[in-house]
Amino acid sequence: MPGYELINKKEKQAVIDLFDEGGVLFAHGFQNKRKHFHVREFEKKICKKVNSKYALAVSSGSAAVKIALKTVGVRAGDEVITQAFNFIACVEAILEIGAIPIICNIDKTLNMDIDELGKIITPKTKAILAVHMLGVPADMLSINQLAKKYNIPVVEDNCEALGSFIGKKYAGTVADIGVLSFDFGKTITTGEGGALLTNKKLYDKFAREYRDHGHECNPKFPRGMDTRKIQGFNYRMSEMQAVVGKVQLSKLDKIIRDSKARYKCLEPIFKSKCRPIVKNTFPNYDTFIFHEVNANIRKKVIEILNKEKFGTKNLPDAIDWHSAHRWDHLLSKDTINKIRKSDMLLTESIAIPIFL
Ligand SMILES: *Cc1c(COP(=O)(O)O)cnc(C)c1O
Repeated sequence: MPGYELINKKEKQAVIDLFDEGGVLFAHGFQNKRKHFHVREFEKKICKKVNSKYALAVSSGSAAVKIALKTVGVRAGDEVITQAFNFIACVEAILEIGAIPIICNIDKTLNMDIDELGKIITPKTKAILAVHMLGVPADMLSINQLAKKYNIPVVEDNCEALGSFIGKKYAGTVADIGVLSFDFGKTITTGEGGALLTNKKLYDKFAREYRDHGHECNPKFPRGMDTRKIQGFNYRMSEMQAVVGKVQLSKLDKIIRDSKARYKCLEPIFKSKCRPIVKNTFPNYDTFIFHEVNANIRKKVIEILNKEKFGTKNLPDAIDWHSAHRWDHLLSKDTINKIRKSDMLLTESIAIPIFL
C-alpha cells in the first residue's frame, strides 16, 4: 500500500496553491473567497477514473462503511454478514448502527467463502458487506448472484484494493455501494479520508445528506438556510485532503504498474503456494501472499522479512487487527469459535508488501 511513499513536491504544491487561492479549507460555501471546490473536483475525478456514476468523499473509510450500511437500509437489530479476514472497522461500523455482525469464514482466496455465505443468509440478513482484502477482489459475481436471489443489498469494501478489476469493471463499482479508504496506509492517501461509490441516484442523495448533517445543498438557499429532511452527522472531507487526493489519484496507474512488475517476479518462485485469485479478476498487486503450512519455515521467513523491515501491517504480524477470531471485545464466544478455521488460514499466510 504505497501511496504515502510517492508523496512529493506535487502534493506539497497542491496544498500551497490551496492557501494561495484563498485558503478556504471547507468544502461548502465561501464562493467569493475561493477559486475551486476541491472536494467536488476530487469526487468528479474519482467517478471518471473508476467509471462510477457517483462518488462521495468522506472523512474516513470507516465512516464510508457506516454510511454505506445506513444508506442501503440497515437498522438496529438487523443482521449484516461480513467476513473473518477483515479490518476491524467493518465490524465496528455494523455495531455503530446497532446491527448484528454475522461473520462468514474465508476460503483459500482469503476473501469471503461463497459456499458458507449461501448457508448463513437468514430472513434477518439486511446487507452483505464483502471485502477485497489486501489487493485481491472477492468473487463478487457469486456474491451478487446470491444477494439477488434473496433480495439483499451488497456493500463492497474496496479500501484495500483500489485499482483492481472484476472483469472489465473497477472493484468498488460492481455492488450497490463501494467503499474506499485514503488513510495513510492505503493505495492512495489523503492522510485520513474515504469515499463511497454508487450508480444509484437515491443512494448517493441519502449518503450525501447523511455525510453533512442532513444538508440538501438546496441551490435556492444560502447554506445557513439550507433545507433538510434526514438526521445526519459530520463525515465531511476537507479541501486540504481533497487537493492531496487529486494528486495521489493521478499516481494510481503508476503505483499499480510498479507493484505488478514486482509481484510478477515473485509469482514463479512460490508457484502453487501463491494466494489463489478468482478467475477473470485482476488484483492491484498491493501485497504478495503465499501459504506455508510448515511452522518452522514460516518462522524463519518472517524473521528474515522483519529483519529487512518488511513487516508491520501485514500477515501474520498484524493478524490481531485483521482476524475477527481475535476480536473477543466485540464478538460473542460462539461467533469466535465458528471462525477458527479462518484464523488458521491467516496464521499460515505470509504477506510481503511489494512496493519499495
Ligand atoms: C482501512 C480499512 C477500512 C477503514 O478505513 P479508514 O480510512 O482507516 O477508516 C475499512 N475496511 C478495510 C478493509 C480497510 O482496510
